[in-house]
Amino acid sequence: MQKKYLMTPGPTPVPAEVMLTMAAPMIHHRTPDFSAAFKAAIESLKYVFETKGDALLFACSGTGVMESAIVNCFSAGDTVIVCRNGKFGDRQKQICEVYGLTVIDLAYAWDQVVDPADVATALSENPGVRGVIVTQSETSTGVLNDVKSIGAIVGEYDECVLIVDSITGIGAVECKTDEWGLDVVMTGSQKGLMLPPGLAALTVSEKAWRAYGRSTLPKFYFDWMKYKKNVEKDTTPFTPAVSLVLGLNEALTMIKQEGLENTIARHSRLAEATRRGCEALGLKLFAPPEGRGNAVTPVWVPEGVDGKAIVKIMKDKHGVTIAGGQDDYAGRIFRIGHLGYFGEFDIITTLAALEMTLAELGYPFERGAGISAAESVFMEG
Ligand SMILES: *Cc1c(COP(=O)(O)O)cnc(C)c1O
Repeated sequence: MQKKYLMTPGPTPVPAEVMLTMAAPMIHHRTPDFSAAFKAAIESLKYVFETKGDALLFACSGTGVMESAIVNCFSAGDTVIVCRNGKFGDRQKQICEVYGLTVIDLAYAWDQVVDPADVATALSENPGVRGVIVTQSETSTGVLNDVKSIGAIVGEYDECVLIVDSITGIGAVECKTDEWGLDVVMTGSQKGLMLPPGLAALTVSEKAWRAYGRSTLPKFYFDWMKYKKNVEKDTTPFTPAVSLVLGLNEALTMIKQEGLENTIARHSRLAEATRRGCEALGLKLFAPPEGRGNAVTPVWVPEGVDGKAIVKIMKDKHGVTIAGGQDDYAGRIFRIGHLGYFGEFDIITTLAALEMTLAELGYPFERGAGISAAESVFMEG
């Protein structure tokens, strides 16, 4: 027997309370019981999104709501600005192109932060842009983009909506939907919401509803208005993922009990301990200091060490699953997730397994230095 630890930025560990809730016998969705849980879950979603606007919930993975944002806000031929500095930004661009949008491509290296000044320039040089799309927390790189500043810039344009992929942002970093003027903010269940994959949610501002009114791209399952009309009656247009919705309600209750600010502060502490632990081992962090999120810590594989072997030994020998790098960074970086249901000892365990793995691979460092640095962060806290 080997005890297992899931240290990836999605899927993430699911608390026992949530799993037990989801294990209850099936109930029918057109019932007061389901409606009560659904209503509570929607209210709690608004709490984590920090919005008084609409929150809509869908049975799909995160990419489903990304696609829904495009088909509900735009028409073929519309021009949008896509800010991309990682795999998920690339995906946004692909979705826009599939639907015949004209993309102004603000592309950055994967270890760079999106510069809000570039968004301002692109908007002023291209009158009539209908949308700006940005990933707040780039899961492929750990880079945190400044959506607050971008919100202030896009807010000057009445007919341009700001769409934010906060799929690994919500619950881990600040994301003040209303205060920052973010029109559409998205998240997914298998990330900070501590659930299995299968649900995704988003917010819709007044401005985004005006964009919806103009949009002519075809939509049926993901037609936001169908969901809005049903949410107002505490129900869903189609069969919801009943068990996941009940689990969502439980998971969000846990976040509310902790308090969103405390949840974010916990993530910030876990991220800091992971970073300091890795640096104490002489490893280099991938994301630049000016833009590091709390969901995942990507780390450069040290020279002379086989990056894929790190991930494999961690998993096979020590039971600790971390993520490798994606696309160009496969084998060159590894990523430690700490998003959702995580505590201090998950980080200590992971750093210990990392130390044992690096030692086995012949990488020279002072044994115990990583764990000790992480402990210091927790003890200071
Ligand atoms: C996980 C994730 C998505 C969605 O991916 P799915 O596999 O469709 O759930 C989108 N954006 C970011 C930043 C993500 O981390």
